[in-house]
Amino acid sequence: MDDAMNLLVVDDEETLRSVLSQVLEADGFKVSEAASGEEALETFRAVSHPLVITDIRMGGMSGIELLTEIKRHNPDSQVVIMTSHASLDSAVTALRAGAYDYLIKPFESLDLISAVAGRAAEKARLVAQNRQLVEQLQKANEELQQANVVLKEMALKDGLTSLFNHRHFQETLAVEIARSRRYEKQCSIIFMDVDNFKTFNDTHGHPEGDKLLKTLSAILVGSVRCTDVAARYGGEEFVLLLPETPKEGALKIAEELRAKVEAEPFPGREKQPLGKVTISVGVACYPEDGADAPSLLAYADQLLYQAKRGGRNRVLGRP
Ligand code: GH3
Ligand code: MG
Ligand code: MG
Repeated sequence: MDDAMNLLVVDDEETLRSVLSQVLEADGFKVSEAASGEEALETFRAVSHPLVITDIRMGGMSGIELLTEIKRHNPDSQVVIMTSHASLDSAVTALRAGAYDYLIKPFESLDLISAVAGRAAEKARLVAQNRQLVEQLQKANEELQQANVVLKEMALKDGLTSLFNHRHFQETLAVEIARSRRYEKQCSIIFMDVDNFKTFNDTHGHPEGDKLLKTLSAILVGSVRCTDVAARYGGEEFVLLLPETPKEGALKIAEELRAKVEAEPFPGREKQPLGKVTISVGVACYPEDGADAPSLLAYADQLLYQAKRGGRNRVLGRP
């Protein structure tokens, strides 16, 4: 039988070992024998046995010492101690030290050996099963935690560009304006839209358009401080939130950004109406351009629209 449980019989009396072996093999165990605690430990270290039946009193290492070593090596192994009537108190010591059960020598009946070994084997099986379940649970838990991290990220970020998404931007802007109001600080937004992006898609295809948006996003991320928030507002519209940044600073950053995009050698840009990929930009600052998030965004959008009408590839903002 392949799934027979390994059982180690330890006793310094050869006759007793063979009696036990016969009985336990008949019960379906795969029995190994050891004539001393030391030998048993060596065998156990090579192959961890779920079940050990050991004499308590042997020359050299005692059964209790062996039990302690086995439990240290594998706490899941079940140990049954054999003792004589005369030294029943040592059985109690063994149970306290972690033995599963004890057998009294001379044996009253062979059936008793089978019964005790059978119960100990059942316990070993349950312990192993339990450990397996706990491990599965831990693994499932770790996977769940990882999935939660990813989900949280997905809830905040845009799938194509990995910039923050519209919703997260709106939430952050509302908080930032409240904070600016409370501490009487300024903050700015830079609102931008890719010029003639429909033409780019129509000329080179949607996947190439996607690549352009990703490259543009990388430029945005590379142009701001870590405290700034770069978000994809919608299709080819992007927005930066710059905390504690007054108008002049924001206009400067917006102009640098516009120039960077204009200079970026996007593949296929020569076919664009202006001969390059460009953005139009509106800059709005709290509190002078709007007292809350919607009015600030509306103002930036209005400037963006003017920038488009004025010929595109430009930054507008009331100085
Ligand atoms: P304008 O200079 O006035 O902004 O012109 P435009 O062509 O950029 O503006 P329009 O609003 O006409 O077109 C925007 C295009 O952006 C249309 C839409 O298909 C495309 N678009 C929106 N989201 C995505 C996207 O995720 N990937 C790609 N490739 N295209 C997108
Ligand atoms: Mg556009
Ligand atoms: Mg647009």
